Amino acid sequence: MVDLVSKLIQFDTSNTGEPATTKGEREAAEWVAARLEEAGYDTTYVESGGPGRGNVFARLPGADPSRGALLLHGHLDVVPAEPEDWSVHPFSGAVVDGYVWGRGAIDMKDMVGMLLALARQYKREGTVPPRDLVFAFVADEEAGGKYGSQWLVEHRPDLFEGVTEAVGEVGGFSLSVTNKEGEERRLYLVETAEKGMGWIRLTARGTAGHGSFLPEDNAVTRLAGAVARVGAHTFPLVLTDAVREFLGAVTDETGLDLDPEGPDLSGHLAKLGTISRIIGATLRDTANPTMLDAGYKANVIPQTAHAVLDCRVLPGRQAAFERELDELLGPGIEREWITKLEPYETTFDGHLVDAMNAAILAHDPQGKTVPYMLSGGTDAKAFSKLGIRCFGFAPLQLPPELDFAALFHGIDERVPVDALLFGTRVLDHFLRNS
Ligand SMILES: [Zn+2]
Repeated sequence: MVDLVSKLIQFDTSNTGEPATTKGEREAAEWVAARLEEAGYDTTYVESGGPGRGNVFARLPGADPSRGALLLHGHLDVVPAEPEDWSVHPFSGAVVDGYVWGRGAIDMKDMVGMLLALARQYKREGTVPPRDLVFAFVADEEAGGKYGSQWLVEHRPDLFEGVTEAVGEVGGFSLSVTNKEGEERRLYLVETAEKGMGWIRLTARGTAGHGSFLPEDNAVTRLAGAVARVGAHTFPLVLTDAVREFLGAVTDETGLDLDPEGPDLSGHLAKLGTISRIIGATLRDTANPTMLDAGYKANVIPQTAHAVLDCRVLPGRQAAFERELDELLGPGIEREWITKLEPYETTFDGHLVDAMNAAILAHDPQGKTVPYMLSGGTDAKAFSKLGIRCFGFAPLQLPPELDFAALFHGIDERVPVDALLFGTRVLDHFLRNS
């Protein structure tokens, strides 16, 4: 399994967001297909919407064909990395000091490697899981899935025939907390919800002219004002069920006062460590200005000015969010959605959730699973359009000092070998009882 994760990292599958410069997905998908085929699988290779956008599917029949199939998905692409910033080459897959290093180590070639190892073992041993397992290794997650999950759902729904539930990123990782008795405990965060994701392009139009004139109707000034208002704005606190359940579970376990209506929620959240960055972002909508573009010469007032906002909207908040945003932008600012993906939310109950709990408890008797909402987005957004119930459960038992959240898209991304071994045992227990 460790070898598989390391080899996967060695494929540079950098997704730049531009089809012309995105690479490596076909090579990685073909290699994954070959690993499945040498274990005895028939695989389906599909390119999703463009040349080289490789995806691989394989199915392992289960004991009870009347039950819906379980989709196990991982994306093969990664965000780019600058080698000069790293301690090891980001595409080395080096196994050093008890870690597998490289771009994708936690997002998400770790899960791909764990699933691949288990899929191969099951086929070779003739293991029959309780229900059909559908393994899917897909392209383009890091740019929203237009050339991956979104395309597959739209054009090849047959590949998901009979699938009722799905497990992928981002969840299953441990968060170490100190309980009321002063003992260290691990909470395992299972993703049951995701904020919506929308990128908005703003345009201001004004009067072009000589840079020496008296300022009037300047597009740059108007746009800059709007962007500054949005950037400085705090959207209202809105508690979704997943967030409420997470805060309640952590309060019960730790005694920390995480009362959502309390005076210093973010102060108390900070005591959970870096995960508070994600949790804090699930309490309200956010709109971060991320790009600015205007002008071409110092002494020319340009006619137009542009900006891009990265907006993350809570379930049920879309209309209210847009009203609030328009008020902030003010008159004379046009806005256009470049990308708009719906939020997702399910409940933390049922057989599959019980199987996750049991699998964690079998390998960490002091552990506890809790639901949480991801502030970002995953392929679950696409798969849920087919009526599939999606969870983030890629189990890893992490050392308490590791800043896990910072490793996503971060420099020196790496995963502890022990965390992978734990995760593989948990997934094995889970899949045999799913
Ligand atoms: Zn990912």
